[in-house]
Amino acid sequence: MAATCNPHDGIGENCGLFGIFGDNDAAKKTYFGLHSLQHRGQESAGIATSNGEVIQCYTGMGMVSRVFRSGNGILEKLSNPVAIGHVRYSTTGTSKASNYQPLLAEYSRGQVAIAHNGNLINAQLLRDEYEAYGSIFKSTSDTEIIIHLLAKPTHISKLDPLGHVLNHLQGAYSLLFLFDNRIEAARDPYGIRPLCIGKTSEGAYVVASETCAFDIIGAEFIREINPGEIVTLNKNGLSSRFFVSPETVRPAHCIFEHVYFAKQSSTIFGENVHQFRKKLGRQLAVEHPAEADVVIPVPDSGTSAAIGYAEKSKIPFDMGLVRSHYIGRTFISPEQIQRELEVKLKLAIVKEAVDGKRIVVVDDSIVRGTTTRGKIRALRQAGAKKIHMRVSCPPIRFPCFYGVDFPTKEELLANNRNLQEIKEFLEVDSIGYISLEGLLSCAVLPADHYCTACWSGKYVIPVDVTFNKVSLERYQLHLFDEPDA
Ligand code: SF4
Repeated sequence: MAATCNPHDGIGENCGLFGIFGDNDAAKKTYFGLHSLQHRGQESAGIATSNGEVIQCYTGMGMVSRVFRSGNGILEKLSNPVAIGHVRYSTTGTSKASNYQPLLAEYSRGQVAIAHNGNLINAQLLRDEYEAYGSIFKSTSDTEIIIHLLAKPTHISKLDPLGHVLNHLQGAYSLLFLFDNRIEAARDPYGIRPLCIGKTSEGAYVVASETCAFDIIGAEFIREINPGEIVTLNKNGLSSRFFVSPETVRPAHCIFEHVYFAKQSSTIFGENVHQFRKKLGRQLAVEHPAEADVVIPVPDSGTSAAIGYAEKSKIPFDMGLVRSHYIGRTFISPEQIQRELEVKLKLAIVKEAVDGKRIVVVDDSIVRGTTTRGKIRALRQAGAKKIHMRVSCPPIRFPCFYGVDFPTKEELLANNRNLQEIKEFLEVDSIGYISLEGLLSCAVLPADHYCTACWSGKYVIPVDVTFNKVSLERYQLHLFDEPDA
């Protein structure tokens, strides 16, 4: 498994989606929308637009500001009234140009561009089937199979071809489809990844992974797309249909979105992310109190929980770790980055805030534990007298197969260690994780409306545990293994 580009010692973000119908500045609005979703993926970015007849698409490696940098004229060339965009972190298929999204294709019904957030757990099976009949794939991404499903003549002839195709998919998928005259936005029957609808003051409809993308362009949040729903945006406005029967809809939202991925300003799964994380911090303080002088967060995603912990425990909050926001990931792929070096670049210690003090360090999660231990050692060097580690999610023991790039089970710190061993590994004076029950008690939806598999091991969709982000790469490798004719 590749190293990842974040200070969380091993969790890769997933992907971000944005779409807008009926705005003369659609490409520029998409650019800004993707900017606000940049935290969901930094490997590549892309925008596809339509003028009603032809779809144009541009993708590139790196962050949005690099791919569509000022002066390169790409946004001007993409100037059309309908657009979808994507920021990517590879959860299936490695970081290479053929895997960048939106994926653009032509088939018998015209052009289509697709942007996907999630992981299709039956992608390999479907691909094997299609290849057996002669289909040729150009990427190693799981998303490409959707194009082949759409193009199949027996699927095209169905009353609702797209709905029919979606019924072939298993796993997590929030999807945007750009056809010449419309956008179709769909969410899997479990609603694992978020997807929201909004409207601009000029009357254009927008869709995005998180509501923070609406804020930046002044759009108003209308509602979330329901699990199993397809929403169509076209010249007649917005319409909706379901591609599964209601009894098969079983919400299993990824609660890790709330804990770590989503931006604090976003509202997803019915609740603002910052407020939710503060509740986690308060619950953590109840479950795992500590005698300390100061509460410090691991920024940024641990900050809200640390505020909640400080509020409830009445221990002063301070910034003992400061994150640098000026480290770009533009030219660095997950395969290249040295995780520990990146953490050093990203987090600086404020000696004055920790020297001689008993501190509570609040983080949202611990994955491998190596970088957390690095932070703990740095805090000790800066003079911290006692360090109490508090974590606003339970111990992560199982990998994710639904669109989040976790390390393998063996690499997870909590996989085969008890609390005492974790405490010793991290070199802390005490360790306290929020309980799963405590975590779920903070959520606004019923407990069974969330996926908790990375803590509980209970996967709502049965998974082939041998599948990982590079499973489809074997096709690529095969090409190189073949001797010259
Ligand atoms: S396994 Fe964990 S990260 Fe993956 S969808 Fe479920 S809760 Fe989210």
